[in-house]
Amino acid sequence: MKTRITELLGIQHPIVQGGMQWVGLAELASAVSNAGGLGIVTGLTQPTPEDLLKEIERCQSMTDKPFGVNLTILPTIKPVPYDEYAQAIVDSGVKIVETAGRNPEPYLPMFKDAGIKVIHKCTSIRHSLKAEKIGCDAVSVDGFECAGHPGEDDVTNMILLPLAARNLKIPFLASGGFGNGRGLAAALAMGADGINMGTRFMVTKEAPIHDNVKQKMIEATEMDTALIYRSFRNTARVFKNSVAEKVMEIEARPGETKFEDIQPLVQGVKGRELFDGGDLDKGIWSAGMIVGLIDDNPSCEDLVTRIVAEAEDILSNRLREMISG
Ligand code: NAD
Repeated sequence: MKTRITELLGIQHPIVQGGMQWVGLAELASAVSNAGGLGIVTGLTQPTPEDLLKEIERCQSMTDKPFGVNLTILPTIKPVPYDEYAQAIVDSGVKIVETAGRNPEPYLPMFKDAGIKVIHKCTSIRHSLKAEKIGCDAVSVDGFECAGHPGEDDVTNMILLPLAARNLKIPFLASGGFGNGRGLAAALAMGADGINMGTRFMVTKEAPIHDNVKQKMIEATEMDTALIYRSFRNTARVFKNSVAEKVMEIEARPGETKFEDIQPLVQGVKGRELFDGGDLDKGIWSAGMIVGLIDDNPSCEDLVTRIVAEAEDILSNRLREMISG
């Protein structure tokens, strides 16, 4: 397939792996890139900017294909030296960055000067238009189905993607709810130039998380995610385990919820321990509604190949028959 995204990023298939806290290590990013998609190393998963530089170098030693780095700018428990992370990305020689969260404008001059293509993740059309205006090369339009932070508008991709197609001039990825060939074909039909997948890539052989987590997501239905931090306007979609249910219960209590009331439950480090040790009620982890459509743990190569083959079959057979009959 050839789309504006494959051309822009220099990749074979229009499939991008989204940035994922604790999951976007070199093993996964290089596997996705070697499969012809675009892998993404997650910046803040590395404890320091120096560690990020080393992780990028590790990824460079595992693939000679393009890959990117995610830089998420959202509230954190400990302050993050974003400028130093951004500088580490520039110093690494990586040519693609996925930004997410706050407006990436302060970092665009340094990225542009270094010849870096910037894909900004947006959960609304107004933010997508803003990203286009400030000079981002592409956006990743993140619908309400997505894992992690869907924003506060609660608009699904059935509406967001055609709106993006109508309003944007730059290429865009469809993000949230994608994980198979039907999704890819649908995204292209709605005007997107490719798909971004996070949760689906968590259940692959190369994803560096415990098998218990993968198995739980295989067993899950589309009803098994929960929305937390609604009361802080920092909504996150996570897997509906006992910890997420506890957080929702605390947030639903009368009166204002203080972040300190839930902080011990939601700390990112507990999520990391959950991924490492496989104790599914240790903390929270991001997961999108696509868990309802995940039922195996393939290699990234098999997954990407299968998705592209399915989408091509739908586009060239099923849909063509409908109009030629
Ligand atoms: P962390 O341990 O610092 O915080 C845990 C969670 O609490 C994060 O989701 C964070 O956004 C939220 N949070 C922290 N302080 C808050 C406050 N004062 N008010 C409201 N919410 C608050 O974060 P982490 O798990 O180490 O993650 C690091 C970064 O990556 C954060 O910016 C986080 O939002 C982001 N992240 C993004 C995704 C995604 O799917 N897009 C998933 C996980 C983490």
